[in-house]
Amino acid sequence: MIPRILLVNPWITDFSAYDLWARPLGLLYLAGVARHLGCEVFLVDCTDRWHESLETRPYKPRRFSCGKYPAVEIPKPSPVEWVPRRFKRYGISPEAFRRSLDSIAPPDLILVGSRMTYWYPGVSEAVGILRERFPRTPIVLGGVYPTLFRRHSERFSGADRVVAGEGENALVELINAMFKPRSPAPCFDLGDLEQIPPPAYDLIAGRDCLPFMMSRGCPRRCSYCASRFLFPQYRRRDPLRAADQLVEWVERWGFGHVAFYDDALLADRRRYFLPFAERLIASGLRARFHTPNGLDYGAIDDETAQRLYQLGFETIRLSLETADRERLRLVGRNPDLGRFEKALESLFRAGFDASRIGVYVLFGLPGQRRTEVEATVEYVLGFGVTPLLSEFSPLPLTAEWEKVRTVGSPPVEEEPLLTNNSVFYRLSGEFPDAWLNELRRRIREAKEKNSARAR
Ligand code: SF4
Repeated sequence: MIPRILLVNPWITDFSAYDLWARPLGLLYLAGVARHLGCEVFLVDCTDRWHESLETRPYKPRRFSCGKYPAVEIPKPSPVEWVPRRFKRYGISPEAFRRSLDSIAPPDLILVGSRMTYWYPGVSEAVGILRERFPRTPIVLGGVYPTLFRRHSERFSGADRVVAGEGENALVELINAMFKPRSPAPCFDLGDLEQIPPPAYDLIAGRDCLPFMMSRGCPRRCSYCASRFLFPQYRRRDPLRAADQLVEWVERWGFGHVAFYDDALLADRRRYFLPFAERLIASGLRARFHTPNGLDYGAIDDETAQRLYQLGFETIRLSLETADRERLRLVGRNPDLGRFEKALESLFRAGFDASRIGVYVLFGLPGQRRTEVEATVEYVLGFGVTPLLSEFSPLPLTAEWEKVRTVGSPPVEEEPLLTNNSVFYRLSGEFPDAWLNELRRRIREAKEKNSARAR
């Protein structure tokens, strides 16, 4: 008997959501492992903008394979009832989800993924429907939610079991225990990324955007980031092998876009990113590249900027977060802003125009004031590039978490919904909506002026 494994990417439940090259890479890795062990795999992605139930596919496309999700308003969960925004379920309808499940014979095991912890209402709803449709099949939940909120996920997800951290070896053990193969499969050495079977990219419905990682984790320790808890060790792939595989996958499946999910794509760039980029350039691969995670500007010199440009990176996002040197020092980042300015110069020299460069500006950190955020926005606008405001969302286990875990009622340590980026900054009162709208207006206006000047 060939074991049948169903993988499910649940809905997003939030005040806003937009598809910025989001694909369920963790589940695709697990599907690759399951296949490697001889299982048959099926994927149902509740956020699939190419789902057969949608009248237009992809749903509401925008540039570079991004776009809106279908969405319906749903009742606001009580802990966030006070937030003056509409709460929605983003993705296909529950009926379409049920129909997708009806087309699959009962699986032997169901793996449910999770991304943002505060999207747990979507996880619980998907698990409830899976339970109703396949009452005898064990359901295992993995991903960010059980890794950072284990007890909460055990209580509220409805899954039979939750798994924290990287899931490959947990899956090997589960398959060995459930299906008792004659010779049990050994676990992978997760320290060596070359050992892990490739993601099952063929399961991505639209084949528009390939999510790719050449590393797991990050060598840095920023006080607000949970990267090291999601990936306890920082590891990298062999750059030449990674490049060759990427070329093969893009060409085999016809993907037009590649999104790097690495937390630290440019770390130790001379040994990793530059040889990788040179190999890709030499291959003549025709694809557009994107980095939804911000790049470390400290690693961008002329050579790196040129490679990014030659590769065809459409959008460059830099993680500045703040121009306040003291804050940079407090959160564990290098306070030398000269590195940011040099990186911009290198990007401009390489050929990027300002409209293609976005700079993350974080607001809502504990103790942060509006004036700091305003000054950072003005600093970024001064270079003609676009500030991308990003709301601070506290993550368990991080240093910033200790400062805020008792904030809110119930406190954020008991209620992940309060850590939602549209919610948490509202708890302090320092960042009222009128102020935020005005800042956004200021950014829009400056952007329009800059593009008029460029024309
Ligand atoms: S914020 Fe970025 S640089 Fe800092 S630890 Fe996280 S992934 Fe690394």
